[in-house]
Amino acid sequence: MDFKQVTVAGSGVLGSQIAFQTAYKGFQVTVYDINDAALDKAKERIQALKPHYVHDLGAAEADLEAAYNRIAFNSDLAQAVSQADLVIEAIPEVVPIKTEFYAKLGQAAPAHTVFASNSSTLLPSQFAEATGRPAKFLALHFANEIWKNNTAEIMGHPGTDEQVFNQVVAFAKAIGMVALPLHKEQPGYILNSLLVPLLEAAQQLLVKEVADPETIDKTWMVGTGAPLGPFAILDVVGINTAYNIGNAKAQATGNPLYEKVANLLKTEYIDKGKLGRETGEGFYKY
Ligand code: NAD
Repeated sequence: MDFKQVTVAGSGVLGSQIAFQTAYKGFQVTVYDINDAALDKAKERIQALKPHYVHDLGAAEADLEAAYNRIAFNSDLAQAVSQADLVIEAIPEVVPIKTEFYAKLGQAAPAHTVFASNSSTLLPSQFAEATGRPAKFLALHFANEIWKNNTAEIMGHPGTDEQVFNQVVAFAKAIGMVALPLHKEQPGYILNSLLVPLLEAAQQLLVKEVADPETIDKTWMVGTGAPLGPFAILDVVGINTAYNIGNAKAQATGNPLYEKVANLLKTEYIDKGKLGRETGEGFYKY
């Protein structure tokens, strides 16, 4: 394995999971975030992951403790990346924030350091120049709850070095992920390119009053053998996220069906606190 020291930048929902999973698999990890308050939150978040590793993976307490002890926390970017072979960026999905971060990171990191973005919707080519090292930059996209939903989509931009790409594929496997290499840039990678149209189609069937959520889900599950239907998946994703995507599409396209979907999600679910599995109710009760 070419990478030994890994820095995770941004320690929110995904960053804390990536940091802990990487440390759990034996790597030395540094967590970088904007200030000490954010890092304190990260420590809490990471500690809160331990019971999931015990419950879902049967992990031993001693291994989890050892993993935690392999993580350092630092709010000084230059210090946080000074030893890094790989920096995984998981900061907010906001173009100017990421662009500014990559410009600073490109100055601060050693020349050999590879940068990988966990961005869900943005493309590596949008930031390649800002990094100052486009050949050593690509996307490494995880799913939420990475210890069990262990996909890692690896996607370069046209200027990504092939050897770097292969190193990141090997790293993804080394931290217990199913590595899924893409041959070219694709908004939404593979998973969301498949999933988003399915979820949208289901919501449109609902607002067109073709069928109710249970029947739509049952059709998909019985017809394809899938364990969950689109509305059960929406409950896992969270109604807020579904609303944000639908609302953005309604604004961008002016398509009244998207508008209807966004209105339904807002008035019947979000306003009533039915945000999906997380709140105990969405399209279904849990
Ligand atoms: P989040 O809001 O939970 O965490 C973002 C973190 O970044 C916070 O700790 C914040 O303090 C920190 N931050 C803000 N500005 C920063 C800066 N300039 N430098 C360093 N840190 C900074 O976000 P998240 O849900 O973890 O998402 C992070 C990235 O991961 C996004 O690109 C998102 O698209 C992607 N992602 C999220 C999910 C998910 O399910 N949440 C799944 C896959 C990918």
